[in-house]
Amino acid sequence: NKIIEVNNLKKTFITEKQNRIEALKEINLDIGEQEFVCLIGPSGSGKSTLLRLMEGLIFPTEGIVKVKNKIVTGPLPEAGMVFQEYSLMPWRNIIDNVSFGLEIRNIPKIRRYARAEELLEKFGLSEFLQSYPYELSGGMQQRAAIARAIAASPDILFMDEPFGALDAYTRLQMQKDLIDFWLEEKRTVVFVTHSIEESIFLGTKIILMSPRPGQIDKEYDINLPYP
Ligand code: ADP
Ligand code: ADP
Repeated sequence: NKIIEVNNLKKTFITEKQNRIEALKEINLDIGEQEFVCLIGPSGSGKSTLLRLMEGLIFPTEGIVKVKNKIVTGPLPEAGMVFQEYSLMPWRNIIDNVSFGLEIRNIPKIRRYARAEELLEKFGLSEFLQSYPYELSGGMQQRAAIARAIAASPDILFMDEPFGALDAYTRLQMQKDLIDFWLEEKRTVVFVTHSIEESIFLGTKIILMSPRPGQIDKEYDINLPYP
C-alpha cells in the first residue's frame, strides 16, 4: 500500500542574485507503508529538498506530493521529523521535549511522561529526564530528538542525515535503535544520508539521486539481513 506519492515534482529556487537553481527536475516516486526508504546521493543532488517537500515544509514549483491520498499542504501531524542539527527546544527539559508531541495531542501528563520515560530509558537517557538540552552532549541530544520524533508513534518518520554529526560508536548504536523502532512499530521511514554503507544497513529501499542534480538515478530494493 502506498503511503507517499510524488508526481512530476519540480522545485526551482531563485537566489538573491536571481539565479535559477533547478533543485528537482521531475521526480516521480511511490513509497509503500512500512518501507524504510533511504534517499542517497551526492551533495547538492536534491535529497534535502525532496525530503522537505514530502514533509510539507516547502512547496513544489510544479507537481504534487500526496500522503495517504491527500495533497500535502503543510507539515503533517502524523509525521515525525528529525533534522541534522539537534533541534530540541532549549527552554524545555528533556522529558518535556520528548513528550511535547503528546502534549499537543492532549494526552494526560501521566501517560505522556510514561511514554517519554520508556523511550528515554531505551535510549540510555533515564538519568537526564530533568536536564536541559545544553547539559547533554551532541549525541545525547540527538537521541532525545529521535525519542521526541517517535513518541507519538508517527505513521511516517522523516530523517535528514540524523547521525551525520555523531561519532562512529554512537552512530552504530542509534542505527540499531532505529532498526528496533522500525521492526517493533512497523512505521514508514524516509531517511536522507550520503553514506552508501548506512543506506544498505538501514534501508529496505534505496533511492539513488543522480550526480546530475534533481533527478532520481535508480531505485533498489534491499533484502533484509534480519527477519
Ligand atoms: P542535498 O540535500 O542532496 O545536498 P539540497 O536539496 O540541499 O541537496 O540542494 C539541492 C540544490 O538546491 C543545491 O544546489 C542547493 O544549493 C539548492 N538549494 C537548496 N535549498 C535552497 C534554497 N533555500 N535556496 C536556494 N537554493 C537552494
Ligand atoms: P544539506 O546539508 O541537508 O544538504 P544544506 O546545507 O544544503 O543542507 O542547506 C541548509 C539550508 O540552506 C537549507 O535550509 C537550504 O534550504 C538552504 N540552502 C541550501 N543551498 C542554498 C542556496 N544556494 N541558497 C540559499 N539557501 C540555501
